[in-house]
Amino acid sequence: MTVRSYGFGAIALEAAVQVPATFEYRRASSVEDALALLERFGEEARVIAGGHSLLPMMKLRLARPEFLVDINDLHELDYLRLEGGELLIGALTRHRTLLESELVGRLFPIFHDAERVIADPPVRNRGTIGGSLCQADPAEDLSAVCTAVRAVAVILGPGGRRSVPMQEFYRGPYETAVGAGELLVEIRVPVRPNAGSAYRKVERKTGDWAVAAAGGALSLADDGRIGWAGIGLAAVSTSLAGYRRVEEALVGREPTDELFTEAGRIAAEDCDPLSDLRGTEEYKRHLAGELTHRALTLAAERARAAGGTGGKDA
Ligand SMILES: Cc1cc2nc3c(=O)[nH]c(=O)nc-3n(C[C@H](O)[C@H](O)[C@H](O)COP(=O)(O)OP(=O)(O)OC[C@H]3O[C@@H](n4cnc5c(N)ncnc54)[C@H](O)[C@@H]3O)c2cc1C
Repeated sequence: MTVRSYGFGAIALEAAVQVPATFEYRRASSVEDALALLERFGEEARVIAGGHSLLPMMKLRLARPEFLVDINDLHELDYLRLEGGELLIGALTRHRTLLESELVGRLFPIFHDAERVIADPPVRNRGTIGGSLCQADPAEDLSAVCTAVRAVAVILGPGGRRSVPMQEFYRGPYETAVGAGELLVEIRVPVRPNAGSAYRKVERKTGDWAVAAAGGALSLADDGRIGWAGIGLAAVSTSLAGYRRVEEALVGREPTDELFTEAGRIAAEDCDPLSDLRGTEEYKRHLAGELTHRALTLAAERARAAGGTGGKDA
């Protein structure tokens, strides 16, 4: 697909057809059942979770699956728990569950920052983290969040179970590492001590997709310097993995305003936005820098507030 804009809302304005092509529908009763259905129907089958991205894509005929495998009864994929130093998030966890979770807010406030500005309550009640990541829209907020915190996606399929880091999971606009016959089942986020994280987004109106957004996560070493940093931006590039230079500029340095200004400058240089109805390339590049600066500033404040216990006593 040629990408001229990010966030299917923008694409919708250019499309005429608003009715899906015909398809068959199956409701899976277990993970094993879902995998068997996906294998049986092959390349033409698609999973449906919240349906908030897939159904609009089908109405616009940008997606034409012949078989839909509904995973909404797979409650075993709807969980949040802390295990072995990682936050484990089931793929069917709804936006609303993430937003309301005390555990998530305490360990990774970046998720709460993002969830507050994703769409509206009806979408958040139904949409899932698995669907968000598998949709792989370059404007998807949770893809940027999961990149910043170095999440790992767990994929299950006929070949067994495999773990894929977020930068490799996201292959480009609307393409992920999940192959035909496979299911994203879990997202694992490493919990780091003395860590803070934050997400900042500019949208045209409440509930809209980002004009630009930035997520920053960092941890502080005992001497107060930055020991580790992760960056993820939304709506300003077709790649999630392009911010290594920003991360390298941060590690080993004092978390000062000058440093975060410098980090923003590099992020603005390294992103690759498109001019579209949400804004010009120049404006989005400016936002990328400013939002990176703001996200890192808040992430550092939160890491200091964690005061040596962030993550350790969770
Ligand atoms: C009006 C509106 C505004 C929105 N605004 C925003 C916004 O501001 N920011 C934002 O980030 N998002 C936004 N969204 C998208 C929203 O977050 C969706 O919930 C999300 O993109 C998809 O989640 P879903 O569960 O609905 O996925 P679905 O639509 O069910 O599926 C999306 C894709 O993922 C695949 N899939 C789903 N689950 C799995 C799985 N477990 N394994 C393998 N493949 C799977 C499907 O086959 C499909 O290709 C908006 C949506 C709407 C309708």
